Amino acid sequence: MTPLERALHERITAEGPITVEAFMAACNDYYYATRDPLGARGDFTTAPEISQMFGEMIGGALADSWRRAGCPADAIYAELGPGRGTLASDALRVMRSSGFKGEIHLVETSPALRAVQKQTLPHAIWHESVDDLPARPLLLVANEFFDALPIRQHVGAAERRVVVVGGGLAFDRDGEIVETSPASEAAARALATCLAAKGGVAIIVDYGHERSAPGETLQSVRGHGFAPVLADPGEQDLTAHVDFQMIGAAARDAGAVVTGVIPQGEWLIRLGIEARAQALSRANPERAGDVQAALDRLTGREAMGLLFKVIALHGPDWPAPAGLQ
Ligand code: SAH
Repeated sequence: MTPLERALHERITAEGPITVEAFMAACNDYYYATRDPLGARGDFTTAPEISQMFGEMIGGALADSWRRAGCPADAIYAELGPGRGTLASDALRVMRSSGFKGEIHLVETSPALRAVQKQTLPHAIWHESVDDLPARPLLLVANEFFDALPIRQHVGAAERRVVVVGGGLAFDRDGEIVETSPASEAAARALATCLAAKGGVAIIVDYGHERSAPGETLQSVRGHGFAPVLADPGEQDLTAHVDFQMIGAAARDAGAVVTGVIPQGEWLIRLGIEARAQALSRANPERAGDVQAALDRLTGREAMGLLFKVIALHGPDWPAPAGLQ
């Protein structure tokens, strides 16, 4: 039994069944707090870990928005769930070369990942929650952050819970599942409130669906493969599809302007990732094969290009980021 599994058994025995939301929150808090899960030897690989081109495209889009907004000196780079800090360092390289000198603010709860981020971004300022970001114009990105936030599962009028049966964990009911994510909705609202008051842009990239729809999407990944959701709590990555319609509606309601949702591959191509790939290959001909493979993974319809989607939220006086409207 994993340490968290033992703790969950004790909790359920003492308090009764816990919601899927409480289960997912407990699992991911433990999981991220105790490891760096990214990369070939970890559990999963994210877009910024595939190629520097991903962060460079995002940095280019943020720098372009900042310039078109008149280069406000008090704007900050901000990121939610920055992982190893790879996206931030690739994006900031491009932004610094465009003249952006603002501070770096990272929302990260995991002490283990904060330590990794400190190596790459020694001058960053860390926060526990989106609510703690300073009231300043934001140049913000969140890649694979919302998918890690807890979801609730509803079966009819009941909320689905996790119980202990025969010494193991089980769901208390099955049936047609509808998922909601109050944590994601609250984060979208907090971002939008800041964007509405102070301006800025927030680019959200994640896997998920453009329209809210019923169905179970909670999944567990370990060692680059799928695993049963209730197995080995705290030792595998639990995620759910992001409901972009819900994020957009919450952000709009809180006063931000919301762009349409487009597939990651299409957005990166609109931003010029193919030209960037050609330039990298020309500069390092021996790496041309790797660059092409990374481009295919980031943009290919069978790879990340279609399942992953992009949406932006921005202040009413700020332009929509390049490639989004
Ligand atoms: N954006 C990175 C990492 C994605 S993994 C990349 O693309 O490589 C998810 C990240 O979100 C990790 O850094 C994790 O520690 C962080 N995270 C998960 N839940 C969080 C929460 N509730 N609050 C803040 N950060 C969280």
